[in-house]
Amino acid sequence: MGNKAVKFGGSSLADANQFRKVHDIIKSDPKRKYVVPSAPGKRFSDDIKITDMLYKCCESAGSGLDFSEDFQKIKDRYNGIIADLGINMSLDDEFDTIVKELKSRPAKDYAGSRGEYLNGKILAKYLDYNFVDASDVIIFDTKGTLLLDETVKAVRQKLKNLENAVIPGFYGRTTEGVIKTFSRGGSDVTGAIIANAVNAEIYENWTDVSGFLVADPRIVENPDVIETITYRELRELAYMGASVLHEDAIFPVRSAGIPINIRNTNRPEDAGTMIVSNDYDFSRESLGHTITGIAGKKGFSTINIEKAMMNNEIGFGMKVLNILYNNGISFEHMPSGIDTMSITVDSSKLAPVRDKVLAEIRREVNPDHVDIEDGIAILAVVGRRMKNTRGTVARVFASMAHARINVKLIDQGSSELNVIIGVSENDLAEAIRRIYDMFINSES
Ligand code: ASP
Repeated sequence: MGNKAVKFGGSSLADANQFRKVHDIIKSDPKRKYVVPSAPGKRFSDDIKITDMLYKCCESAGSGLDFSEDFQKIKDRYNGIIADLGINMSLDDEFDTIVKELKSRPAKDYAGSRGEYLNGKILAKYLDYNFVDASDVIIFDTKGTLLLDETVKAVRQKLKNLENAVIPGFYGRTTEGVIKTFSRGGSDVTGAIIANAVNAEIYENWTDVSGFLVADPRIVENPDVIETITYRELRELAYMGASVLHEDAIFPVRSAGIPINIRNTNRPEDAGTMIVSNDYDFSRESLGHTITGIAGKKGFSTINIEKAMMNNEIGFGMKVLNILYNNGISFEHMPSGIDTMSITVDSSKLAPVRDKVLAEIRREVNPDHVDIEDGIAILAVVGRRMKNTRGTVARVFASMAHARINVKLIDQGSSELNVIIGVSENDLAEAIRRIYDMFINSES
């Protein structure tokens, strides 16, 4: 029998009721043998995550302040879950150890890691699974970089004779034995590492949404869920700000050819989104829209340069890009004409060196005209099927034209995986809605 690595996020384990759902999901499939929990997250919108409560205690401890009241709230949450589930266990010794440690050595990563550690203890007991401390198997170098090979070896060694295991997410230890966490949301990364190490047939990432949405629900009402997305498409959309998964959670599974399935703990009947590599058998999909997703981001500026006969001047582009390079600015897009060049950059990065960059461009390439336009939004229309479909770009622009939206920039990567459009920030939401209508509503 194959196995599945399953990770449950903080909202999936925020209280006893959520624990029950997680229990039922795990027990409904005997392949769900390796479980990675987050710390208890928010139960309601202005609730506080356990991880944040722990950071607060650590900060107080670091300033020599009393944190017993705040720590009591953490204890109450865990004890509430234990009592409500009716399991016979006590975390009192663990709580004492944490308080002692925070008083003598208030280290932020140690503090943050305890949320997952304690939750893992409860979940293992509740499921009757083995508990494996992540600090025994997830290994970082002394600078805090994950050592993937060593980690995979340690996980395999540890799990060799175990039927099942709960391995807390988010943390591990350095080669010197110091507790170290990933960046926030890092339990996703632990899940991906475990999936790799146990050669899982799938990495299920259980959260509180039924997968990636085609567009931002704050912009498009009730958007469709993306059924299947490739790793490359996901990267394009994530770069534009669409996020569900920690960025570093992709590599360990992608390199091992393991698909990720984003699932909803509160709606386990939903299939969720499958994240797959290019060689996946896409014929299994039921929906087949031309595009996979749309995402947009505000906060860009374009530097527009004009110079007669620019195309004859060898090294013109290089000189301009060198100026950006020397000022520490990376560029996003650079569409150009015969005598014009337009470079899109992040406005906040440009701000501190704006006048300097303009002066240097004037001095180095002596343009007829140079200006900077702010308030640009970039939107990406992403889809692996665009490559084999004629008329996609025409439809994108028809939808802009009908809405009288002025397109300021167009870029289509050579992979034909996405079309990038620059519009005024004020037009971004409407542009996304129009494209959604054109490709999703009218293709349904
Ligand atoms: N508990 C950690 C956080 O709040 C890690 C995670 O949930 O993945 O960021």
